[in-house]
Amino acid sequence: MRDIDYRAWSHRAADWSADYRDGVADRPVRAQVKPGDVAAQIADAAPELGEEMEAIFADFESIIPDGMTHWQHPRFFAYFTSNAAQAALVGDQLANAFASQCMLWQTSPAATELELKMVDWLRAALGLPDSFTGTFQDTASSATLCAVLTMRERALNFTGNKEGLSGKPNLRIYASGGTHSSIDKALWVAGLGQDNLVKITTGEGPLFPMDVAALERAIAEDRAAGHVPAGIVACVGGTSVGHTDNCAEICALAKRENLFVHVDAAWAASAMICPEFRHLWADVEQADSIVLNPHKWLGVPMECSLHLVRDPAMLRDTLSIEPEYLKTRTKAEPAKGEVGEITDLSSMSIQLGRRFRALKVWFLLRAHGLEDLRQRIRNHVEWAENLCERLRETDGFEIVTEPVLSLFSFRVEGDDERNLALVDAINDDGRIYLTQTKFEGRIAIRFVTGQFDMTRDDIDIAYDTITEIAAR
Ligand SMILES: *Cc1c(COP(=O)(O)O)cnc(C)c1O
Repeated sequence: MRDIDYRAWSHRAADWSADYRDGVADRPVRAQVKPGDVAAQIADAAPELGEEMEAIFADFESIIPDGMTHWQHPRFFAYFTSNAAQAALVGDQLANAFASQCMLWQTSPAATELELKMVDWLRAALGLPDSFTGTFQDTASSATLCAVLTMRERALNFTGNKEGLSGKPNLRIYASGGTHSSIDKALWVAGLGQDNLVKITTGEGPLFPMDVAALERAIAEDRAAGHVPAGIVACVGGTSVGHTDNCAEICALAKRENLFVHVDAAWAASAMICPEFRHLWADVEQADSIVLNPHKWLGVPMECSLHLVRDPAMLRDTLSIEPEYLKTRTKAEPAKGEVGEITDLSSMSIQLGRRFRALKVWFLLRAHGLEDLRQRIRNHVEWAENLCERLRETDGFEIVTEPVLSLFSFRVEGDDERNLALVDAINDDGRIYLTQTKFEGRIAIRFVTGQFDMTRDDIDIAYDTITEIAAR
């Protein structure tokens, strides 16, 4: 049997990690490899006999980093960022040391209790009332699936899990065309079907909100046709160009229609630690469920998605299953009644197994404090607005969608081909990384700031890179 010197190799990995972060800005942001380049360097099968760690580490260094796209690069302006503040990484490293499976309170009481505290810290930091509680999940896709399942079960009087959907009426869920594909997928997985996701038209920019009058008409038509409306998914800060629905109007309509509302604010909600941005989701506290990803903008490394709900009992009635082998033998005392009987957090999510995610959140929030995190987000928003104005003033460029927080989109004169060619040329250059989307049938180039360690200089480099390459 082989042993490795865990202490020595952990130190080596920590040193490598620190050097990597110090030097990441000198690497091309997007991986410059071709499909198959990495696979060609990896053995075709596992070795029968263990190899030296030295050899493994050397292969790691020579093969892997160049095959990575560097999400912690300060000039990452693509998709949405997936930040990893270094303090949070230290917390995550310690969570890895325990490597605990935190499914039940008794399988790691500290993980459950710290998680409930961190959920509550974040809830308060976002300006939400203490009527919300929740859990950390892996991704927004999972949290949204839980919300869609709750809509389903609520509409079926909690008979769907037992009886299945056969012979049941069509359950209808409403969202705008600006919502994320994870909503569509949630309906697929929940067995409701794509055809029962009713996409409502959107209104004018810059927020392109769901047309609530059209939503009301769609609900009435569905009821008249014998369908059963089950819920509405509102979007705050859509992925393409920042679509943001009017939560107040949607929640008011949902109340009249007795529908469940889930708000997907996976990216944008991190900005709600700054009170001046909260108008974008005014009245969100009237919703039943909210998802946001602290692993996007806030600085918590993947994976950490916060699912907040107003009625945890409804979520548990949808997802809790307790065979004898999972019964908790030591029930936690409810902490001053505020978290009630929620002790086994796996009863509020799809997966049974759960990582110790709260530790990295605790390290992040304590090491930086909310004020530092707010300042970073305010900078990102201001710098995106500045770049947008500079591109607007530059010949040959047009702004397609105005900034929503730190996301806007632009285009260069010419057809879609030319704009796609520009995206490719910029990303091949390596100084910055951005991605395209389609808006009103045409290609637009997205630009979003949010990388944790970026500075104003990185915006200048972005402007120079974009205009220089477009001029070629
Ligand atoms: C990123 C994003 C998602 C998907 O998030 P995952 O955590 O990757 O599942 C969903 N909705 C919006 C608005 C997003 O920005």
